[in-house]
Amino acid sequence: MEDARSTKKRSGRAPSKKRHKYIFVIGGVMSGVGKGIATSSVALILQSKGYKVNAVKVDPYLNIDAGTMNPTEHGEVFVLRSGLETDQDMGNYERFLNVSLNQEDYMTSGMVYQSVLEKERNLGYKGKCVEAIPHVRDEIIRRIRLASEQNGSDISVIEIGGTVGDFQNALFIEAARVLKLEHPDDVLFILVSYLPVPGALGEMKTRPTQNAVQQLNSYGVQANIIIARSSQKLDQRRKEKIAISSNVSADHIISAPDVESIYDVPLNFEREKIGEMLLKALRLPKKPATGLADWQNFVSKIKNAKKEVKIAIVGKYFDTGDFVLSDAYLSVIEAIKFSAAAVGARVEITWVNAKDFQKNPKSVSALNKYNGIIVPGGFGETGIEGKILAIQYAREKKIPYFGLCYGMQLMLIEYARNVLKLPGSHTTEIDSNPTHPVIDILPEQKAILANENYGATMRLGVYPALLKKGTIAGDAYAMESVEERHRHRYEVNPEYVRQFEEGGVVFSGVSPSGILMEIAELPRGVHPFMLGTQFHPELQARPLAPHPLFTAFLKACVRKDTVI
Ligand code: GLN
Repeated sequence: MEDARSTKKRSGRAPSKKRHKYIFVIGGVMSGVGKGIATSSVALILQSKGYKVNAVKVDPYLNIDAGTMNPTEHGEVFVLRSGLETDQDMGNYERFLNVSLNQEDYMTSGMVYQSVLEKERNLGYKGKCVEAIPHVRDEIIRRIRLASEQNGSDISVIEIGGTVGDFQNALFIEAARVLKLEHPDDVLFILVSYLPVPGALGEMKTRPTQNAVQQLNSYGVQANIIIARSSQKLDQRRKEKIAISSNVSADHIISAPDVESIYDVPLNFEREKIGEMLLKALRLPKKPATGLADWQNFVSKIKNAKKEVKIAIVGKYFDTGDFVLSDAYLSVIEAIKFSAAAVGARVEITWVNAKDFQKNPKSVSALNKYNGIIVPGGFGETGIEGKILAIQYAREKKIPYFGLCYGMQLMLIEYARNVLKLPGSHTTEIDSNPTHPVIDILPEQKAILANENYGATMRLGVYPALLKKGTIAGDAYAMESVEERHRHRYEVNPEYVRQFEEGGVVFSGVSPSGILMEIAELPRGVHPFMLGTQFHPELQARPLAPHPLFTAFLKACVRKDTVI
């Protein structure tokens, strides 16, 4: 009964007024070929054609959110406005679409199962046997629908994590199949596949893609469009070869060769007319719309940037390669790129290991070749003293410095120790009983940690800050207050605020209560740019709306072209 009722409801008893459209993006052959960027690009193109679009990420793992995962293994934890800790793909969607997404736009298997299990415990299934089909499947569909309703969007682009054939994502593909069955004209499938060019052959092979299409067919799902990722362009002969074996017409196979910048991808897709193709397949009319002119303009700014700027990001880096590092700090890197494009700078980023400075403090002078230094967010003890040495160097040598979250806390510890002459200044994150606990735990966090309750318990998501006029931050934002995203447990200890201020630090952003210090800076007369934020400005930087603080930092870096 329960099942029959829920199916009827889905099949149109309570139809929404406008017919919502769903595009599912599924990966074939292997992961890591740019499914997230393909999803972001498709969403952007439809948005540029005048439609309201929301992008949804489905992560098949069992974690309830991405907050408890190690960024060097999994990539950056991207925090939404609501405070939900999500996958870095959500950051890509927000950056491409220039919107803030809702927490309903993200789901993991863990979240889905948690809802089903809670409902079961509350007798929500009225004595039924609770099963993957229909209950888990229907919970997935409910969440996808809810996301579109929350956004009031016309089209949802939903990326199913993993690759076709995985055990973990099968239920999500099944949910998509059922949605298609109920709304045949409103649901489309895009397969993002990979075509290898084996070195020894030097020839692009279509077989793995043909197999992926067939594997998807075995779930009862037919791809409508194939995005063919490869190192090279796909030729007509191969398009036809894939077409004949996969029931997808050759003009619905999009060539997606490797590109210099991910921001080229939507432009390349549009060259293959994917936007028109999607609108036609979804039976949506053409609308007067802005198109991709602004995007094109941003891409040309990146390409034409001339002024060379070298930035060092000082952090703790393990035995990971650059690839993993750039994933762990994705939003920081992108935020730099957007502001660099805005000021016409070409940026070279160098990863600097803070632990090296700890071993050999004199080696910190190697930082003199950079136009700017960033200490990004972080947790724990590793490399702390090295980072503090780097910050001291930046302050004394007047190299523009930008501290993000931990980077601000450490900037103040350095200042307390070396300028305020408060030896033994530290954060209670590292030293539970320092002489001067200048950075201390947020009171509400104490009980949480005492219970070892780590998931989703930090100060997360947007909080407002009031800005001081005439400061670097106040002038950069040119606003009286801002809302920025947070992810931290510790803060500037209110008991030390006066000493910092009397000793020369300006708290240019403060919570409306006046208790939490959100931005700390040194006056321009003292240092060209020495500023830290308790929040993560990088999470709200967008290609078409670069972050004002990153732009102010980049401007200072461009000015600092003479090496000390
Ligand atoms: N570890 C610090 C805190 O919890 C900083 C966190 C961060 O950089 N995101 O407050």
